[in-house]
Amino acid sequence: MDIELSPEDLSFQSEVRNFLKENAYKQGDYNKWRLNWFKLARAKGGWDIPKWPEKFGGPGWSPTQHYIWEKQTAVSVTPWDLPFGLSMLAPVLMNYGSQEQQDRFLPAIRDRKVNWCQGYSEPGAGSDLANLKTKAQLTPDGKHYIVNGTKIWTTLAHIADWIFCLVRTSDTGKKQEGISFLLFPMKQTGIEVKPIITLGGAHSVNMVHFTDVKVPVENRVGEADQGWTYAKGLLQHERTGLAGISRSLVALESLKEQAKGVKRGNGTLMDEPAFRTKVAELEVDLMATEFTELRSLAAAAGGHNPGPESSILKLKGTEIQQRIQKLTVEAGGIYSAAWGAKPVGHSFARAGMSGYLSSRAYTIYGGASEVQKDVVAKNVLGIKKSGK
Ligand SMILES: Cc1cc2nc3c(=O)[nH]c(=O)nc-3n(C[C@H](O)[C@H](O)[C@H](O)COP(=O)(O)OP(=O)(O)OC[C@H]3O[C@@H](n4cnc5c(N)ncnc54)[C@H](O)[C@@H]3O)c2cc1C
Repeated sequence: MDIELSPEDLSFQSEVRNFLKENAYKQGDYNKWRLNWFKLARAKGGWDIPKWPEKFGGPGWSPTQHYIWEKQTAVSVTPWDLPFGLSMLAPVLMNYGSQEQQDRFLPAIRDRKVNWCQGYSEPGAGSDLANLKTKAQLTPDGKHYIVNGTKIWTTLAHIADWIFCLVRTSDTGKKQEGISFLLFPMKQTGIEVKPIITLGGAHSVNMVHFTDVKVPVENRVGEADQGWTYAKGLLQHERTGLAGISRSLVALESLKEQAKGVKRGNGTLMDEPAFRTKVAELEVDLMATEFTELRSLAAAAGGHNPGPESSILKLKGTEIQQRIQKLTVEAGGIYSAAWGAKPVGHSFARAGMSGYLSSRAYTIYGGASEVQKDVVAKNVLGIKKSGK
């Protein structure tokens, strides 16, 4: 997609390009470079927290400037970053946290000093999240919650310092009405983290058990029993972040290059009409999804929650990522099957298969695709369920 860039936008684009080029990782202590990169980005005027509103130190960019940043960072080497504190919890604290909570937690999130994890899903509560059972009971003096229960699929719980957690504080009324939003440290008595190894052979998710975990009442965000409202806003930010449009644009370009290196008769795989058609279909879908992302960036730049379009982005963005992974495996042919052993054949084949297996989860986490379709049908298209 080409957007008409004004002279100011073009000058911003070269400023971003120069910054990314000058400060790219070369060699030496990666961690030192990483933290220094964020410092330098901060000195540019909030480039370390592009999506935060100006009031909280963000750069106050226009949607076009966000678009430029996304595109340029996708083709550059930038330091790794986790979304849990920065893109998920931070907007909740900005909208619903007390001044004391904002002062306490936001600076450490910005400085990348504290790793957060997300304690939403439970063995009986995934798509039907409001069914969650982890219980938080107030002590008689009203100063603490005592938390008991189990969370599942908790990404990076094994390296997290803190967790933001949905807990049940009331059993009366509608399921959604008795949920609270708590923050507490992971390294404390009563928390046990057990690894879950996924299809691609990686350890990124965990089962987390809480036994009589003591949480000060001032670590509750917002009102008691109102956590569902805050949790839903967070999910919209999470879904927008999962679409990965800029990354897909880069991945699709590298898929084309890979396919050009695969011989077919007198030509290459990229010359085959059937393969070209699949690539072209992906390009068209990617372009359409990019326009939706721009709409969502415009909302975020104004400090608003992204809204139900975030479900379109999550749905289409993750499906596109899976289709690219699938075509990469197809391009690798028989060599893709050797992914667990020594690399054989095309250099991309091994990573292609492990990427493909990991990508199966993209249409599950952050809310399964079927659930996103429900949200789009109801809140974007205004379709009512039959019989209602
Ligand atoms: C790799 C990975 C990382 C994750 N990280 C985290 C994390 O850090 N923190 C966290 O809290 N959670 C995390 N999750 C959990 C994730 O959010 C849930 O897996 C997801 O919400 C689906 O819930 P479930 O697994 O319980 O499946 P279920 O809800 O049991 O769904 C099973 C199947 O039923 C279908 N289904 C369910 N409801 C409907 C419906 N209404 N209409 C049509 N079909 C339906 C679903 O599409 C799905 O295919 C992670 C999951 C994965 C796989």
